[in-house]
Amino acid sequence: MIMYNDLKKIIDENDNIVFFGGAGVSTESGIPDFRSDDGIYNAVTKYGNSPEEIISRSFFDRNPEKFYDYYKHNLIHAGAKPNEAHLALGRLEARGKLKAVVTQNIDGLHQMGGSKNVIEVHGSVLRNYCMSCHAFYDLEYIMEQKNCRGQTPHCEKCGGMIKPDVVLYQEPLDQNVLSAAVSAIAKADVLIVGGTSLVVYPAAGFLNYYRGGDLILINKSITDYDSKAKMTIHDSIGMVMRSVVD
Ligand code: ZN
Repeated sequence: MIMYNDLKKIIDENDNIVFFGGAGVSTESGIPDFRSDDGIYNAVTKYGNSPEEIISRSFFDRNPEKFYDYYKHNLIHAGAKPNEAHLALGRLEARGKLKAVVTQNIDGLHQMGGSKNVIEVHGSVLRNYCMSCHAFYDLEYIMEQKNCRGQTPHCEKCGGMIKPDVVLYQEPLDQNVLSAAVSAIAKADVLIVGGTSLVVYPAAGFLNYYRGGDLILINKSITDYDSKAKMTIHDSIGMVMRSVVD
């Protein structure tokens, strides 16, 4: 096994590290990357609509039944468990070295892996809210058939329709969450970026806020930012993180 001693040294000597991650962090937990070749965006759907259309706000508003049928079968991975990357980041935060995880993932695996300060720029499938009274519901509630009419979950308090607290296409990112992400990245001494090709908004933009000199990129493929990084590692994020965090 390759030992990433230079990265280990940087982590050992710093206590103001921020991690920014994308879909590649979760693929090692068996959650497909939206945009990879075998990801769900290339899946043939049974609806005659592209996944991008289905996971858009206008589609949700017009066809909640179809939305939820697709969503529950393709975006919910109830059995997924945190992998070595999630667990290593959880340990780094517990030791006071990692200040925040900024993630584009919506699966909640960082929290399951022990992280507390997780900034979820695209929301989370674990949170769902009533569009009428704003009561919050967990994932179990919306997956329970008895809380649904057809596939669409409804509020037990007021009967309103429930929407996942996930940023759909056509929806803006939450400004408070965006500010928190930018602030964490701007204050970091070490920024580790993992499992993202950095081509999709807002990922690439986030890097512009980092002022430190220790930008570490861990991604299986090459990114446009490799030349700007102090260190680039093209390998499995779980394997790398396990080898640098005891
Ligand atoms: Zn309600």
